[in-house]
Amino acid sequence: MERYDIAIIGTGPAGLSAAVTATVRNKKVLLLGNKNLSDKVGKAHDIQNYLGLPDVSGENLAKAFQSHLDNLGIQITQDKVNAIYPMGEYYSIQSASGSYESKTVILATGVNFGRPLPGEEELLGKGVSYCATCDAFAVRGRKAIVIGYDKEAEAEADFLSQMAQSVTYIPMYKEEPSVSEKVIVLREIPVEILGAEMDGMTMVSALKTRTAEHQADMVFILRDTISPTHLIPGLQMDGNHVAVNLQMETNLPGCFACGDLAGKPYQYIKSAGQGNVAALAAVGYLSSLKEK
Ligand SMILES: Cc1cc2nc3c(=O)[nH]c(=O)nc-3n(C[C@H](O)[C@H](O)[C@H](O)COP(=O)(O)OP(=O)(O)OC[C@H]3O[C@@H](n4cnc5c(N)ncnc54)[C@H](O)[C@@H]3O)c2cc1C
Repeated sequence: MERYDIAIIGTGPAGLSAAVTATVRNKKVLLLGNKNLSDKVGKAHDIQNYLGLPDVSGENLAKAFQSHLDNLGIQITQDKVNAIYPMGEYYSIQSASGSYESKTVILATGVNFGRPLPGEEELLGKGVSYCATCDAFAVRGRKAIVIGYDKEAEAEADFLSQMAQSVTYIPMYKEEPSVSEKVIVLREIPVEILGAEMDGMTMVSALKTRTAEHQADMVFILRDTISPTHLIPGLQMDGNHVAVNLQMETNLPGCFACGDLAGKPYQYIKSAGQGNVAALAAVGYLSSLKEK
């Protein structure tokens, strides 16, 4: 498998700025995120405090970012990262459509994790999953409920329906979902994931909604953003943010974090600045590996 020097997760100002600097420094870069960049950029009305671009709309700021990427030939790989595993010499990155390898990782996924459902954290790995591709084997012949926070989750529900005994899809957005006929769509609000004892272990047994209780062996929660500690095991946090030093280094060697994810204030220019620092720190880390 192709191994990248620097994988950047997130296409807001932090991730894009990291991609620009890493590319200028001639590194083999993988930029994973959204081809529309970030909603927090594109949907902002009037931005007064981005240096050099006074009174710019979010739409025009996004266009300026895109044109910078185009000038440098930087491509965005449209994909959602579900899990990252430190493998010693590299990181294995699991996504909705496959996996990637990279010597370093820059996390720039922003903030917006939402509160976990009661029972979600306790039953994670015991029937609760954030990744259809990673846990497809476990769903074979079992009842699955998929809670989808955006339309991208529909493809994952379809995929699971090829293996599961049944798949119920709960869309958490207004648009009408378009899923395969094997998938049952339910318009209800989830409130709790319930567990029951099975062979001495508590496993998922049902999903409780505001109006009913639905039996399930697995509950897939497919949010737009995943909490960083669920994304990468062993990552040290500082409250709700990833703990970083001034070089944007996390506690994991070769893993950096920047932007909103790395703390307040939540600002475009601060995110872009931290993306630049994270990329330079990753370049320095790669050089130190060569010296070893
Ligand atoms: C309406 C609004 C107006 C604002 N106005 C201003 C302003 O005027 N001035 C100012 O300085 N700041 C403003 N902000 C704050 C600013 O938007 C944020 O500080 C900034 O966007 C943070 O950048 P970021 O790169 O850290 O994260 P984000 O912009 O949130 O980008 C995160 C990116 O990561 C991607 N991502 C998340 N999870 C994954 C995953 N698992 N796999 C792959 N990709 C993933 C997302 O799709 C997104 O592209 C505003 C925010 C909002 C919401």
